Amino acid sequence: MPEGPTLVILREALREFKGKKVLEVSGNAKIEQQLLLNKTVRDFKTFGKHFLICFTSFTVRIHFLMFGSYSINEQTKADKAVRLKLVFGNGTLYFYTCSIKIIGKNLDEIYDWSADVMNAAWDKKKAKQKLKRYADELICDVLLDQDLFAGVGNIIKNEVLFRVRVHPESRIGAIPSQKRSAIVSAASGYSFDFLAWKRKYVLKKNLLVYGKKVCPRCDLPLVKGNIGKRQRRSFYCINCQKKY
Ligand SMILES: [Zn+2]
Repeated sequence: MPEGPTLVILREALREFKGKKVLEVSGNAKIEQQLLLNKTVRDFKTFGKHFLICFTSFTVRIHFLMFGSYSINEQTKADKAVRLKLVFGNGTLYFYTCSIKIIGKNLDEIYDWSADVMNAAWDKKKAKQKLKRYADELICDVLLDQDLFAGVGNIIKNEVLFRVRVHPESRIGAIPSQKRSAIVSAASGYSFDFLAWKRKYVLKKNLLVYGKKVCPRCDLPLVKGNIGKRQRRSFYCINCQKKY
């Protein structure tokens, strides 16, 4: 599943279509497709894992879910049905296996931009404040909560907890304040590292625990398991990641 930084890269890749008119629209997305025809793209935005194509009076919201993808100019996923195809004068955009909706409301009413770890409006203090409401929850679940950490996906979750040396099954209420601050900071900081590595195509070689077998700090086997309420894959070291 694409995480926040991946959508930032998509936003940059689509810059050439900003200010361009949609000349053709097709695909199996169950939206009022005619609405997009001959309309000009005003902007591309992201909120966590939501990709937003902004027109003057509405926005097309794309959620990539687990297996969503896109391509530019060529239909690369011949085996997958095209969910939405947008033809512009200077190229074509394809989206596959994603959820697509049209939003009529002003985006500022829907999104709290300060909850997006990659947004300029990201508010670390507010995130730490919000954490208090989840005292009984496990950090591995809460880090994936898009209301608190929009953009953080499963890879970032695992790497952040390793970076700050916190066991994924730690209860929020038991984690010391300083450590909670470190988690909140790393959620955004790591996301920007992820973005920089992905731009240079070196993300995989910079992953320390996700998909790995041995702790690079301790040289001991990592634990791998589907834990927490969400039962998402976790990789961690019981020697250097403390359980609170
Ligand atoms: Zn370790």
